[in-house]
Amino acid sequence: MQTVDAIREAGFEGEILSDAANLIRYENDTSLFELRPALAVKPKDATDIKKLVSFIASIKDENPTLSVTARAAGTGMAGGALNESIIIDVANMNHIKSVTAERVVVEPGVFYRDMDAATKEKGVIMPSFPASRNICAVGGMTGTNASGEMTLTYGSTENWVKRLRAVLSDGNEYEFSPLTVSQLEEKKKLQGFEGDIYRRTYDLIENNYDLIKKAKPNVAKNSTGYALWNVWDRQTFDLTRLFTGSEGTLGIFTEIEFALIKPREHRKLVVIFLKDFAMLSEVVAKVLTHKPETFESYDDHTFQFAIRFFPDIVKSLKTGIIKLGLSFIPEVLMVLKGGFPKLVLLAEFTGDTEEEATQKANIAFEDIKQLPVQIEIMRTQKDAEKFWTIRHESFNLLRKHGGSDKTAPFIDDIIVAPEKLPEFLPKLAEVMKEYKLTYTIAGHIGDGNLHIIPLMNLRNAHDRDIVMELSQKVFDLVFSFGGSMSAEHNDGLIRTAYLRQMYGDKIYSLFEETKDIFDPKNIFNPGKKVYGHDLAYIKDHIDKVY
Ligand SMILES: Cc1cc2nc3c(=O)[nH]c(=O)nc-3n(C[C@H](O)[C@H](O)[C@H](O)COP(=O)(O)OP(=O)(O)OC[C@H]3O[C@@H](n4cnc5c(N)ncnc54)[C@H](O)[C@@H]3O)c2cc1C
Repeated sequence: MQTVDAIREAGFEGEILSDAANLIRYENDTSLFELRPALAVKPKDATDIKKLVSFIASIKDENPTLSVTARAAGTGMAGGALNESIIIDVANMNHIKSVTAERVVVEPGVFYRDMDAATKEKGVIMPSFPASRNICAVGGMTGTNASGEMTLTYGSTENWVKRLRAVLSDGNEYEFSPLTVSQLEEKKKLQGFEGDIYRRTYDLIENNYDLIKKAKPNVAKNSTGYALWNVWDRQTFDLTRLFTGSEGTLGIFTEIEFALIKPREHRKLVVIFLKDFAMLSEVVAKVLTHKPETFESYDDHTFQFAIRFFPDIVKSLKTGIIKLGLSFIPEVLMVLKGGFPKLVLLAEFTGDTEEEATQKANIAFEDIKQLPVQIEIMRTQKDAEKFWTIRHESFNLLRKHGGSDKTAPFIDDIIVAPEKLPEFLPKLAEVMKEYKLTYTIAGHIGDGNLHIIPLMNLRNAHDRDIVMELSQKVFDLVFSFGGSMSAEHNDGLIRTAYLRQMYGDKIYSLFEETKDIFDPKNIFNPGKKVYGHDLAYIKDHIDKVY
């Protein structure tokens, strides 16, 4: 294979994988797509990436389809790490370079779980971890702007990236961190590509300042588009904010520095059962006034799945089946009396002492109890664990027990302002009803972020048609409520085609200009964010052979 030889000649020292047996691993992530790459490479360090990108840049004009797409752990749900050219698997760039009580410096292939173990030795964590924290890596978390249950209090990954290094499309590695006005001026004076990046990005944002600020989706967290609104506030210019969530379309991260916090050690869970959506708005508003650290939810379908596949829950909890069965008696009685609750809400209160957490939870409990809802406070962490397990396992339960059907994440990450949920949810249910799908809704109710995961037979053309039809209908609804189609999973293959509709022509053209500034030859992850594939291509690449 000519390209393999040429990459070697360019000085690339890491592994190069070109055989079908190896490439098959790169055809999927946890999205519903399948794309066969031509080649996968595993760089041993940043120098390898520089050599590879320089080589691609030098021959891109003659080989316009040649490109590179970064992949960390491949757990993304939007197809962001899939492509048909060269995949850069950063698995071997997995060194934790330094850890203090304030900061950790890591390479992009480090698994979150390993970074977490290292930071916990210092009594600190990076708090924007996703539910997939045991299987994802930090390059992917930064690529998608991942978030999770602690995001309600601590924000998404974009808040925690304090510095990063990336190889850009000229084949050089640069460092990015927040700049003061005078530091920005110095950068703008630089000759060459780095200076260009600062001059042109600054001009783009400054010339469209009000428009860009207004385009920021009015939701608690967002991973769609390029976060131009977060880069420049006329005091600080911070390109880490643009790179985070850019899905590897602007450059390849080689090193990331995260800020860390000392987590509160004690927690107390309040569980609220809602029999319909009528009280949702009031309950959410009331709970939020008590500032829970996390505020999560799952629906009746998830609850039913958890009960149907009870042994799986037992396995995840590592508790005896009898003991666990007994601990569920109050909920079983509740179901027998009143049927499955439509929504279960989990509000967790934390403190530096047991008393502090308990006091916060008790005050919230007494206040929420005034509303006509069923509510319980968990006495111990063990009692709380069964609810957390159902919440955390909801996607996996569905993945494992779908039979011939497959979990189909495509409307998996919508977000609207939480106060709009009572009006939004019945409309969503109406749209979903037409398709008679089995699906679960779980999510971060405090942020208004819902994960809707249907089970579908994607071998069947009819079901693939539904994916396309339903995406459009659900996104139309989300946009009409001023929401975003992705809070944390990003655009990837599944949502890029709808970005123009979400942001409008002008902002979308600024996204295109942003890409042109950083990657004029479209070397990095083509087809994501801008210059995307049409709907026919997307439909055609839905995995039919799983
Ligand atoms: C069971 C389950 C639960 C999940 N729960 C959550 C959740 O709660 N919250 C959430 O946000 N997500 C969740 N996800 C989705 C996914 O795990 C996260 O988005 C995760 O952050 C992706 O990390 P990864 O290492 O697998 O990334 P990958 O899938 O490998 O890559 C993701 C994106 O980042 C880019 N990228 C990777 N490395 C680099 C690099 N070095 N430089 C530039 N770009 C790079 C890729 O090109 C791609 O676009 C879940 C997934 C599963 C399977």
